[in-house]
Amino acid sequence: MTFLHDRFPGADLPHVPLGARPTPVRRLESWGSNVWLKDESAFGDGHWGGNKVRKLEWIIPEAHRRGRRTLFTVGGIGTHWGLAAALYGREHGLRTVLGLVDQPVDDHVRDQLARLGASGALVHRYPSVGRLKLAAPGLLLRYREGLRLPYYLPAGGSSPVGTLGYVDAGLEIADQVRSGMLPEPAVVVTPVGSAGTAAGLMVGLQLAGLATRVVGIVVNDSFRLDAEVVTRLANATVDLLRRRNAEIDVVLHESDLDATDDYLGSTYGASTPEGLAALEAARADGLELEPVYTAKAFAAVRDIAPRTAGPVLVLNTHGPRGPQAFS
Ligand SMILES: *Cc1c(COP(=O)(O)O)cnc(C)c1O
Repeated sequence: MTFLHDRFPGADLPHVPLGARPTPVRRLESWGSNVWLKDESAFGDGHWGGNKVRKLEWIIPEAHRRGRRTLFTVGGIGTHWGLAAALYGREHGLRTVLGLVDQPVDDHVRDQLARLGASGALVHRYPSVGRLKLAAPGLLLRYREGLRLPYYLPAGGSSPVGTLGYVDAGLEIADQVRSGMLPEPAVVVTPVGSAGTAAGLMVGLQLAGLATRVVGIVVNDSFRLDAEVVTRLANATVDLLRRRNAEIDVVLHESDLDATDDYLGSTYGASTPEGLAALEAARADGLELEPVYTAKAFAAVRDIAPRTAGPVLVLNTHGPRGPQAFS
């Protein structure tokens, strides 16, 4: 049972459970007296975890409901999303076709490519987003089954259906506040790579009646990601819930989100000195970050915590499993 089903018992929301909720929360002493962690790395099974798994809980049954057996999605060659889709899709009778664009290659990306190779994903690589866009219609046709095209999902699984995963997580945070596991956060800080996590949190926190603001640390410059784009996805997710017979009347505004690209560095996937320092520091707290998303969000927390009056909650969205070569 999810928090969304609890909240909207009459709604039509197909779901497969892929992880245990709630994910743990704890104080991160060494990051400041007011910093708390919600450890999304715990979400998922022994093959892969993290924020993309929450999205797949809603996307996989939606694919089945549409009668599709193939997912087609896009990302960088280090995509956590594509890996999670391939692994969890395979367990649920779906094959995954990936159109991937080159990004800076470091040890982390090399590890990801190796994992992708073992995941059963059908991988096609391109040197630029433009080349991928040209190739995409051909890939859709090539992998059609009869008259049915593959189920297309945007980068990061950030469709309104995928975003339901973080509406549920927002309700989960509110439940943890109510049960005393967590003080009500003034802000929740998350990386923004394709907007679904931030957009879902905006909806879920507002739905739960928390005053918590979402702070999005934008780490991707391969397409437009700002407060307007994230808010549009949040409102599209509210519309989806309404179409599925959920009685929901929240409206999100751009001013409900603080988004910054101050921690992006030169481009998506390029590490930053502040990020690598945060990644190193987080090891002392037993956290395994990566340079592309979480390192940059944790770098931001170092600046945000001292100037925030209330508790700062940061999400560890990265859910690696097995041995990690990145160091
Ligand atoms: C994809 C990803 C994000 C970004 O989440 P979006 O919903 O795509 O904005 C953050 N952290 C990690 C580890 C990711 O893989």
